[in-house]
Amino acid sequence: MKMLANESEFRVKVAVRVRPFLQREKNHEQKSCVTIHPQTNQIILGDRRTFKYDFVFGPKTLQEELYRTSVEPMLTNVFDGYNVTIFAYGQTGSGKTYTMTGGNILSIGEKDFGIVPRAVKTIFDTIRSRKDSQITISASYLEIYKDDIIDLLGVNDKDLDVRDDAAGNTIVIGASEHTCHSIEDVVGLLKKGSNVRHTGATQMNDESSRSHAIFTLYIEQRLRDKNSTNVQASFDGLVKPLQSTFDESYLSAKLHFVDLAGSERVARTQNTGERFQESIRINSGLLALGNVVSALSDPKKRTGGHIPYRDSKITRLLKDSLGGNAKTLMITCVSPCTADLDESLNALKYAHRASQIRNKPIKNVD
Ligand code: ADP
Repeated sequence: MKMLANESEFRVKVAVRVRPFLQREKNHEQKSCVTIHPQTNQIILGDRRTFKYDFVFGPKTLQEELYRTSVEPMLTNVFDGYNVTIFAYGQTGSGKTYTMTGGNILSIGEKDFGIVPRAVKTIFDTIRSRKDSQITISASYLEIYKDDIIDLLGVNDKDLDVRDDAAGNTIVIGASEHTCHSIEDVVGLLKKGSNVRHTGATQMNDESSRSHAIFTLYIEQRLRDKNSTNVQASFDGLVKPLQSTFDESYLSAKLHFVDLAGSERVARTQNTGERFQESIRINSGLLALGNVVSALSDPKKRTGGHIPYRDSKITRLLKDSLGGNAKTLMITCVSPCTADLDESLNALKYAHRASQIRNKPIKNVD
């Protein structure tokens, strides 16, 4: 039996992180355009735009603190069978990769570890402490580049197709899944995929990518104690009671880490030809993601009552992890520089649209 979950309950949690000035920005005596009020979770852009989010992190926030306050609490959901997605959104050079992996995953120290290695550690610590279940972890690493889905850990780079199975799970046909027995196994896959990942040099940041990268951990649990199985697995709005007819109960969930393509507008990067095409496609993916989140948060924004998952590869791929009982955190990264004010404003508006915080009215938000 399947029950339809209440989609109107869906709400994305939103964190904003302002990165510190980089050396070259200090050399050019760049001025700051952001003020943070951590007590009220507010951020003021320029001298008049005020936004409020679930979490607001300033330039001095350490990786450990961001992880502990905004990400770690979500991981218990994974062990309860909920799909969890953590996005990093923002302009190229705003700190998405630093926040997600810790910069160059090939050469970072533990203090700089981003969300992914920290989450992997929490998951393996949890597995060790759980006596009531047998848990297996596997991983996949995909990239969406020019609207093609590419397996960064696969044997070729052909575009993969996405389908929904009968239970409502989203399946990427032919994507390789790799069993992981240790933190080192997971980090090894992350390094391997990051090496393969398409990166494109834009005028803003040679290191950044114009693709979306999706690193997924699949957590499969066999619960040994039949009396403790009073839980439900969630699959994209379909809530499925666990089958008590099996000898052991079974629970599965996906944990996605999504490093989104740079949110900057095309004109700023002065891309032409091939690059210009890529920028348009990337922006349409971000636009489609914004529309899905918006439609999920507010039934009035649904055209013909439906959620527009099919409008882009990224929303098709994440269909069973956006909406329903899935849990989502969007970390929006912004630069502190006055020169980036327009892009930061766009990123904060996107984040605001995703958050749909319905407490006190907020001044000056379009
Ligand atoms: P993006 O992935 O958004 O293009 P990066 O993560 O590559 O941006 O960040 C751009 C630069 O800023 C990198 O050199 C990175 O190490 C640095 N950086 C970003 N965020 C922080 C931070 N919170 N603390 C220290 N350095 C940071």
